[in-house]
Amino acid sequence: MERAPWCWLCMTPSPLIEGLSEPAYYHCPRCQLIFIDRKYLPDGDKERRIYELHENTWENAGYVRMLTRFLDETVHPFIQPPGRALDFGSGPGPVLAGLMMQCGFSVTCYDPYFSPDSKWEQSQYDVITTTEVLEHLHHPAREFSRLFRLLTPGGILAVMTQHHDDHDFSTWWYRRDPTHVCFYALETLRWIAGHWGFLLRKVGNGKYAVLQKPSSA
Ligand SMILES: [Zn+2]
Repeated sequence: MERAPWCWLCMTPSPLIEGLSEPAYYHCPRCQLIFIDRKYLPDGDKERRIYELHENTWENAGYVRMLTRFLDETVHPFIQPPGRALDFGSGPGPVLAGLMMQCGFSVTCYDPYFSPDSKWEQSQYDVITTTEVLEHLHHPAREFSRLFRLLTPGGILAVMTQHHDDHDFSTWWYRRDPTHVCFYALETLRWIAGHWGFLLRKVGNGKYAVLQKPSSA
């Protein structure tokens, strides 16, 4: 019998989710992360092709409304402009960055395909946003370490990713996107907060979370 793979976050051996056809997923019994079998990870070309299909533009009123609501729920209650913001995984059309600039933040975009400039790692930020990004990460533990380091004390990581604990995973639409490779539950967010030393300030709407770096960190 094959050994259970280690969880991508907490390194706990994680059993296969039974009863699903391909691809295979594993469910961590400790932090509740669900992650895909690494042999099904999409390569860079495939990821870029799928991201380019997203209609994440200013012309898409529903998309702009969704991001406005995200900022209202996660950023504005905790951090007031001016300040430095990073949109991590900004995608092909940086609408969120534009909305934050309109609010008075100074905004840097990073995206491995569409804004790959490495200078973003040379600053610290009062706000880091990740909208529909965490579910694409192939090495989430490494990225959380990096994002925690890039936050100023008191700064926030504002997250949007659909939480799997509200859904029947076997029929969940969210896993049908082949670039969605790991899925978080409320317990996963609690584990992330505890492990890196964030304060979990907010979880809501089945998809939002606000993680704050302590002022003394
Ligand atoms: Zn885990």
